[in-house]
Amino acid sequence: MAEKTVRYIVVLGSLMSGLGKGIVTASIGRILQSKGYSVSPIKFDGYLNVDCGTMNPLRHGEVFVLDDGTECDMDFGTYERFLNESIKGTNSITGGKLFRKVIDKERAGGYLGRDVQIVPHLTDEIKAWIRNVGTESKADFVLVEVGGTVGDLENSYFIEAMRQMGREEGERMLFVQLTYLTALSPGELKTKPTQHANRLITSMGIQPKLILCRGDEPLDKDAREKLSLFCNVSPEDVFDDPSLETIYELPPVLERQKFSSRLLGHFGLKASEEDLKVWSALVSKIKDPKNEINVAISGKYTAVKDAYVSVKEALIHAAAANNTRVHIDWVDTERLEKEEGLKAAELLGKYDGIIVPGGFGSRGVEGKITAIKYCREKQVPYLGLCLGMQLMTVEYARNVAKMAGANSTEMDEKTAYPVIHIMPEQLKVKGMGANMRLGAWECILKKGSLAYAAYSADKCFERHRHRYEVNNELVPKLEEAGLVFSGRSPDGRIVEMAEWKEGWGVGTQAHPELKSRLEAPAPLFMGFVKACLKRQKEKEEKKT
Ligand code: GLN
Repeated sequence: MAEKTVRYIVVLGSLMSGLGKGIVTASIGRILQSKGYSVSPIKFDGYLNVDCGTMNPLRHGEVFVLDDGTECDMDFGTYERFLNESIKGTNSITGGKLFRKVIDKERAGGYLGRDVQIVPHLTDEIKAWIRNVGTESKADFVLVEVGGTVGDLENSYFIEAMRQMGREEGERMLFVQLTYLTALSPGELKTKPTQHANRLITSMGIQPKLILCRGDEPLDKDAREKLSLFCNVSPEDVFDDPSLETIYELPPVLERQKFSSRLLGHFGLKASEEDLKVWSALVSKIKDPKNEINVAISGKYTAVKDAYVSVKEALIHAAAANNTRVHIDWVDTERLEKEEGLKAAELLGKYDGIIVPGGFGSRGVEGKITAIKYCREKQVPYLGLCLGMQLMTVEYARNVAKMAGANSTEMDEKTAYPVIHIMPEQLKVKGMGANMRLGAWECILKKGSLAYAAYSADKCFERHRHRYEVNNELVPKLEEAGLVFSGRSPDGRIVEMAEWKEGWGVGTQAHPELKSRLEAPAPLFMGFVKACLKRQKEKEEKKT
């Protein structure tokens, strides 16, 4: 059989970081899908960490976990949310993984007699890796997002590999430059910084074919023509990438500028009829919905903005599917511990539902437990994610099952009632990195439970990242007191879900937010949003 032709699109960031390369890469992928092509997105990160697992999410943003347990950059979350596909760990390339591969090979005698060099050894490794993703994924297009900005020392060898590959692949490879146009005064867009950035890219032997412009103002004809002239592209290949109310709007916004026909044209392909109708309908539900809910996520806004993107996006997906706008407040529940006399009702009273997301360590835990107690007592919809499920169990143990001082041994090693304790297999773990319980695991759901109803199924596969679990020895006592354990691992050993009998309160040991996509919202978030809407309605009916 003839080998399938794989095409490659490389997205390079210029001038500054934070322009949204991940969103652009994901949007290009979603547009290509809408034209009937399959895509496989790769991200290269220049840091020398092997993966994101040991990075602080408050510094680097959320650690995203794939089905196969790979801990990777949060851009993978953006890809999956846009493409509605699960991506493999091999699509995440880091400086650490690359150097480790080359050094391991050298130690094994793989380069006997040679001095091992960035070019050709490291660059060959990069090209082989990318081509391999193309072959394995059988995708029509491999998208390569290069982390960082052109000119960084960290990604220079990777960009050199892309240059070589561009030469070898010819028409099958194309480069996109993402840039920023600033306006000194209204109506005066400045293209010179972008011209210089473009020159920097061409000095590396790479000619971008498409230029996407973020900017202070909409891209005008004048700026488009200047960029065309000085950057060697057609005016039709310069695109406006404006600031948008929702990131999901970018694919249709680019398509209105005939993006796919230009992009595919460069590959000698024609854009087919397929379109983004269903996608655009969901975007209008985000922008102009019928209902509104207020949700509190327990955590400080500044600290958690990027650390919990998947939770925020999962809420947006579930809300859009319910024709609802979700207002999210990152409520600092630690205030419940620190400010004497501050009642949970004062801090949380205005919310239709509350989420306690994942986390590590003991800081702020008591405030979260107070918030959970408030939800249980007042029947405010509650969703507990990983740590949020563990604390739900602790709260129930202390306040309902009369286990005074119950805790997780992560917070208190000497607690009289260790309702959450370290997983036995975790005790053997030495060192750091990729050693938690990671990736997608099957969970069997209890018939008649809230979880069962949310999934409309008797099992689910959600992604995990944790070291602690519910202590099976104390399960009977908790169940007797009324806590429902509605999900367990297939061998029955690990508790995966807990819920209350009254109201809508579900905790999961997994991170269902990691598998939520705009076109396929996470079932537990759907259940939560529906419960918020229901409670809101009941409250209003009571008033009248
Ligand atoms: N710290 C807890 C554990 O390791 C929860 C982890 C999480 O929320 N992801 O089990």
